[in-house]
Amino acid sequence: MVTTKIIEKKDFLRQQMLLKRRAYVKGLSAEDKFNCSLNIYGYLLSFLPNPPKIIACYIPFWDELDSQPFMKRYFDSGCKIALPVITENHTLIFRQWTPESPLIKSSFGNLEPDATASELEPDIFLIPLVAFDARRHRLGYGKGYYDRTLKLLRTTKNVTAIGLAYDMQRVDSIPVEPTDQRLDGIITEKLIY
Ligand code: ADP
Ligand code: MG
Repeated sequence: MVTTKIIEKKDFLRQQMLLKRRAYVKGLSAEDKFNCSLNIYGYLLSFLPNPPKIIACYIPFWDELDSQPFMKRYFDSGCKIALPVITENHTLIFRQWTPESPLIKSSFGNLEPDATASELEPDIFLIPLVAFDARRHRLGYGKGYYDRTLKLLRTTKNVTAIGLAYDMQRVDSIPVEPTDQRLDGIITEKLIY
């Protein structure tokens, strides 16, 4: 009963924030978006001063913050880049990306590497989101993919999960269920939370 209420609250906030993000991103020029990504890359370098060996990124979907500028930069500096692939049991595995990698449409609609790409085990995860709060709670698209995946990974090793977002995606408080996994950091074009 209590959980049902939380799910309803999440759904309401999700719809509201998707529309808000849509309106905000529509008002940004290509240059504005690129500058937001570059600011975030600068913060990432200070948050993670040691270059990661394998970093999980994402191909932006809908109005997600563009990760391509730092994917290219991390790739050029010798890091291996991994991208999420949705599995049948609603978790994510990660497959290697290079600028030549063929990408295919996932069951969700975003782009993911095909099955020929090697599977990798990243320790650092850059994660898109719909909304967040200053306590590092994340609201996603409502499938729980990252929650299930981070829960599983955190039982066996130390992972660093960093949410990336526009600062306008912050809300006072995200309703949380026991299955929600808190992020280790959230980086926006303005701040590190
Ligand atoms: P998102 O994190 O994408 O916003 P939610 O947190 O709302 O999505 O999760 C969607 C559904 O998946 C929820 O009903 C939640 O109970 C379920 N879920 C999340 N993590 C797990 C898990 N580890 N095991 C089982 N169900 C889970
Ligand atoms: Mg969740």
